[in-house]
Amino acid sequence: MTNRFPDSSLIPLFEFLKVSRRIVITTHHKPDGDAMGSSLGLYHYLIKRGHQVSVITPSDYPGFLYWLPSNEKVINYEFQQTVAKPLIENAELLFCLDFNSLRRVETMENELRNSNAKKVLIDHHLDPEPVFDFSFSYADACSTCELIYDFILALKDTGLVDKSIAECLYCGIMTDTNSFRYSSMKAETHRTVAALIEAGAENAKIHEMVYDHNTENRLRLLGYALKDKLKVLPEYNTAYLSLSESELKGFNFKSGDTEGFVNYALSIEGIKVAAFFNEKDGMIKISFRSKGDFSVKDMSAQYFEGGGHKNASGGRSLLSLEETEIRFIEILKKYKSELTS
Ligand code: 5GP
Ligand code: MN
Repeated sequence: MTNRFPDSSLIPLFEFLKVSRRIVITTHHKPDGDAMGSSLGLYHYLIKRGHQVSVITPSDYPGFLYWLPSNEKVINYEFQQTVAKPLIENAELLFCLDFNSLRRVETMENELRNSNAKKVLIDHHLDPEPVFDFSFSYADACSTCELIYDFILALKDTGLVDKSIAECLYCGIMTDTNSFRYSSMKAETHRTVAALIEAGAENAKIHEMVYDHNTENRLRLLGYALKDKLKVLPEYNTAYLSLSESELKGFNFKSGDTEGFVNYALSIEGIKVAAFFNEKDGMIKISFRSKGDFSVKDMSAQYFEGGGHKNASGGRSLLSLEETEIRFIEILKKYKSELTS
């Protein structure tokens, strides 16, 4: 297998890891399967290497990830600041996984900036912020979990990959590629997935845990969104969904319930861009998806304080839900020729 991690950065880090270190692993606000899979996968590996390791998330995450091995060890900064702060202050090494800018940890940002720990970035988003002592940023990787496997491989430690590590990493590769279907899923990545199954990852069980975790409320919310809230704009090859806070409340919304909704809009034949507008905590959180060459990352970076990847990005708006939708349609007009060519 090829390896991305260059010796020039890997060797000093390898030397630093030769003795037991106090390590904190963190990831972005509202972590997804890749964020939690990479954090806990790396956690299990570093524990096996004899380090003192904590995983601290900036917020909660969806219940369909609670099966991940050692989920109960995860510290949620939002509710456990008195535990989290001293761990960050005293850490010697801070792994930042699955995000490219410290802004993405929201209320934890200053805590991380002020930490004296050496900072290591392992991520697959474009344009990493230049604040890391070690920056392993590869936008061609399908997921951060794939990179954690490559990191362990570069350290010649694949022999340490056990069922726990394998299941965490499998989860992130699976969720970030929408079950191995995106073009980011290279032959090499399939080989990594095969190695994870050989190391004990129960693939069918993981699919079931993540994707067959619907509550009745979530399915009814999806039904309502598709029946009453889906708007199709054939003139821009665009489709979008929106849900207000009160609509979500009516379906007893839980974190993660709207995960994947945007993909239904994208699945309509001929649609090139899909968006999902979600009113949450006094703002509108937006998910964008696209097919082909249209970069939703560029659009969300320019107009919605966002970022991410070419075909999957996110952003936000401080306007009302209705105003955000109107603004979105105005913005689509600027891209009409690109969207209809
Ligand atoms: P999602 O729509 O699943 O929340 O996010 C899709 C992708 O966009 C993810 O890879 C995530 O990293 C990125 N993303 C989501 N929200 C934001 C945001 O507010 N800012 C930036 N820079 N990236 C985001
Ligand atoms: Mn990711």
